[in-house]
Amino acid sequence: MTRRFLAFLFLPLLILPILLLPLLPVSDASAQGPAAPRESSKKPVVVCSTTQVADFARQVVGGRWTVKCILAPGADPHTYTPTPGDGEMVRSADLCLENGLHLEGNDWMGKIVHDAGKPLAVCAEGVPALQMAFGGEKILDPHAWFSPRNAAIYVNNVVKAISRADPSGRGEYEARARLYLQMLRTLDAWIREQVNRIPPDRRVLVTSHDAFNYFCHEYKFNPTNGFMSLAPVGWSTGSEVGAGMTPERRAEVTESIRRFGAAAVFVETSVNPKLIREIAQEAGVRVGGALYSDSMGEAGSAGETYIGMMRENIVTIMEGLLSGGDAK
Ligand SMILES: [Zn+2]
Repeated sequence: MTRRFLAFLFLPLLILPILLLPLLPVSDASAQGPAAPRESSKKPVVVCSTTQVADFARQVVGGRWTVKCILAPGADPHTYTPTPGDGEMVRSADLCLENGLHLEGNDWMGKIVHDAGKPLAVCAEGVPALQMAFGGEKILDPHAWFSPRNAAIYVNNVVKAISRADPSGRGEYEARARLYLQMLRTLDAWIREQVNRIPPDRRVLVTSHDAFNYFCHEYKFNPTNGFMSLAPVGWSTGSEVGAGMTPERRAEVTESIRRFGAAAVFVETSVNPKLIREIAQEAGVRVGGALYSDSMGEAGSAGETYIGMMRENIVTIMEGLLSGGDAK
């Protein structure tokens, strides 16, 4: 009797685990086998230094990765000082991307990525970099994305780095990149068509800092009648060699505006406009509008993507240089 009663008590204990088996989470069950892939809803994270690099990354990864960007729209990469929050963001990354060519002043991106022990890919690697010489020192101009052909090199570098980190998505990344590269070629052809309408003697682009050399280099039509870039602040708003505003550089730009008959000068969305407004007044030319230079626009603005910022810049440049004749 007692034995039969004990058996009756144990029966549910034997059956219960069998009944509960289907309720166990699949991931826990599969994690027991070493060969089974781990299922996870968490996407890998790529942390980018600049807004342009983040846009290229978004074009490539689609929804497979979470793309984060350290610089906010309108922020200046040359003089940026990272915050503890940036360090935290980088520690959450599976991969980090930067522009390179010293755009990130004092290597701020390289330092925080190194401290966090994360992989870093340089998007400008392999671009035909323009050189500037200052007092015996050669500086490579970091603003390479202003040529859509260089932007294509950035995108290919993003595809390589992302595919290395996630080889199973390579086909998807390459497919997206193929479409985007076609869009960059269309952008390039459209810019050529637009700037061809500017008479050679009006191809003078005066901005706060020298971010437009690649643009001017790309869209010149012959060696003597190319776009000329003039900027009182030099190649960087920081304090590197050949950078920063000097009274000599400022005087030279004011003089050149008069000599070359610039129709208008342009402020930049990521640089304080005060200096360029003063120079416009001194030289007697008008301010033609604001150009996106080292940063794209806010989300929802016309310049929120690389293609959008290039399109808006061309529209602003055309308007400024073609309708500014009376101010010469
Ligand atoms: Zn710059």
